[in-house]
Amino acid sequence: MLKYAETQIIKLKNELLKEFKLKILVKREDENHPLVSGNKWWKLKYNLEEAQKHGHHTLLTFGGAFSNHIYATAAAAKELGLKTIGIIRGEKVLPLNDTLSFAAKCGMNLHFVSREEYRTKHSGEYIDCLHKQFGDFYLIPEGGTNELAVKGCAEFARKKLSKIDFDCVCLPVGTGGTLAGIISGLPTEKKIIGFSVLKNGEFLNEEVKNLVKNFSEKEFSNWHIETDYHFGGYAKKTNELDQFILQMKEQNDLPLEFVYSGKMVAGVFDLISKNYFSSGAKILMLHTGGLRNLGQ
Ligand SMILES: *Cc1c(COP(=O)(O)O)cnc(C)c1O
Repeated sequence: MLKYAETQIIKLKNELLKEFKLKILVKREDENHPLVSGNKWWKLKYNLEEAQKHGHHTLLTFGGAFSNHIYATAAAAKELGLKTIGIIRGEKVLPLNDTLSFAAKCGMNLHFVSREEYRTKHSGEYIDCLHKQFGDFYLIPEGGTNELAVKGCAEFARKKLSKIDFDCVCLPVGTGGTLAGIISGLPTEKKIIGFSVLKNGEFLNEEVKNLVKNFSEKEFSNWHIETDYHFGGYAKKTNELDQFILQMKEQNDLPLEFVYSGKMVAGVFDLISKNYFSSGAKILMLHTGGLRNLGQ
C-alpha cells in the first residue's frame, strides 16, 4: 500500500468571514503524500490494490501532457514496484515538460498518440490493440475515475471528513470521481458543493449522479455543482484569479494553484460575497492537491 501522511485542518482568517459570521476550514489533503498528493492518492488506492490482487505487473493509463493523474500514477507505481505505460494525448514535444519528465524518470513508458487516436480510448477495439502492443496491463481510465476511485474517495470522506465539524464541504471537480465519492461517503445532512473547472461543466451533474448511483446504488440531493467558476476553461486563468491566489498565500499562507484549488476557493469567496451561506455556517474546503503546477 502507498504511504499516507495524516493531514492538517487549518482555519482561515479574513475580514469577509467576520462580516458574514462564517467559519472556513481547509482540509490540507494535498499534504497526504509528497508525490501522489491529494485526491489522486484516494482515487488510486483501490485501483492499485486491484491490480496487485490480480497479479498485474503493469498499469496503463491515459492523460494530457499536464495531467496530475499521469504524474501521480507514475509516482505511485514506482513506490509499489509496478511498471506503467502512459498514453499521452498529442505529439511528443521535446524537451518534455515537468509532468512528463517526472513520469519518465519514475519509469513510465510514455506513448504519444494523435488527438484522433486518443479520442478512441474507450473503445474495446482500441484496448485490444493496446494489449497486442503492450501485453498484459491493468487499465486505469483517463483522470483515474472509475468505481474503485469513487470507493477510495468515499472512504476518505467517511474516515477523514465525517468527524470534522462542518455544514458544507466545497471541492473542485474535473471528471467528478472525487465528488461522487465524497457524496457517497458523507452523512446526508452535510451539504456538498462541487466547483467545475471545465467550461460548460453542466454535463458533470449527470456524470456525478451516475457515478454515485453505480457505486452506492442510491441517489442523493444534498449536493450540486457550481459551473460559473471555470475562469475561461480547463487550465485557463485570468489576472483576477492570479491575484486571488497571491492574496490567499499572503493573507492565510494557503498555497493554491490555478487549475483546481484556486478556482474552487475563489468560487467559495464569491458565493460568500453574494450572501450565499447563512450566518454562522461552517464551510470546509477540500485542498485536493496539484500544487506542483504552481507558476506553470
Ligand atoms: C484531478 C484533480 C481534481 C479533479 O478530480 P476529479 O475526480 O477528476 O473530479 C481536483 N483537484 C486536483 C488537484 C486534481 O489533481
